Amino acid sequence: MVLADTHNDLLTSQTLEGRDVSERLSEGHSDIPRLMEGGVDIQFFSVWTGEKPRNTEGFFKDAMQQIDSLEFITLRNVTKMSLASNYRQVKSLIRQDKLVGLIGVEGGHMIEDDMEKLEILYQRGMMYLTLTHNNSTSWASSARDETLHAETLSHKGLNDFGRQVVKRMNERGIMIDLSHAGEQTFYDVLGLTTKPVILSHSSVYSLSPHFRNVNDDQIRALARNNGVICINFYSAFLSEEFNTEYEKLLGPDGQTKKDSLQGLYADRKDKIKYWEQYVTGMLERYRPSYTRIADHIDYIVKMVGIDYVGIGADLDGVDSLPVGFDDATDYPLITQELIKRGYSTSDIKKISGKNVLRVLKANAR
Ligand SMILES: [Zn+2]
Repeated sequence: MVLADTHNDLLTSQTLEGRDVSERLSEGHSDIPRLMEGGVDIQFFSVWTGEKPRNTEGFFKDAMQQIDSLEFITLRNVTKMSLASNYRQVKSLIRQDKLVGLIGVEGGHMIEDDMEKLEILYQRGMMYLTLTHNNSTSWASSARDETLHAETLSHKGLNDFGRQVVKRMNERGIMIDLSHAGEQTFYDVLGLTTKPVILSHSSVYSLSPHFRNVNDDQIRALARNNGVICINFYSAFLSEEFNTEYEKLLGPDGQTKKDSLQGLYADRKDKIKYWEQYVTGMLERYRPSYTRIADHIDYIVKMVGIDYVGIGADLDGVDSLPVGFDDATDYPLITQELIKRGYSTSDIKKISGKNVLRVLKANAR
């Protein structure tokens, strides 16, 4: 069985914090030893910056540096892992029993409205580009902005440059990731793309109505596209109850409490750690069980069949994981839960990795 996970943020949450992911760490959700212990064969590592660039030169420079750091990590773990930049390499590395690392660039803002920068990222091995993060780009609107800031959006969906980006990605064989994308962007892309798309880390809206999740019409449209939805393990995306309480915790404008608590700490590492501790402490009794992940898988399977769901846990990118799933060593629990629910071996193989590999192959040039 091949286990593919399409979204992991250790490059931001561990490496940028100065930790060496070659070692087994006591902090965060993942590192190379724990990913391997959890049985992960294929891991997409997210290259990400928020709304403000880390470098004065901008987002593109941020992306270049994170790819550099992933390459260094790979060199230090050369006997255990390799990077792949196309489908053929993925297949051959799996046979060598190595952890296959892939680059997923999260947020169209990383290309800075410049097709040349998309090309450079492609040459460096970008296997998917998430068209937007929470922030819209000048060419694609995000789920957050379409939902919460519709009145200030300059345009909804893709504009002409956005359509060119989609076309170029299809030509190059870069997967289009529609997690974080607004509904209009989602449908604009599906009307245009000649290849199946991916949702690298999103869950089911009907089970937790959050703008980051996908609704029933989107699930059906994605199945028609032959794409794949990879389930995010974030407690707020898994459970409506948790999400409601989380929003209350944030305060009336959705950020007050977080800003004020984080303002107490100068160090970014402490800001993340103490906020996470606060969330865990305050919301412990609302955290869903890890079996909720299987509920989201079930929902999609019952609606459109076995071929359109995968895993995109978002480890090291979320401030709460479900009860029982503490870190990357817990992936086998999902398989066990699916067995308990009566899924066949061939079904579980599809959910674990074959569906993602199918989309990867269909995008390959
Ligand atoms: Zn994300």
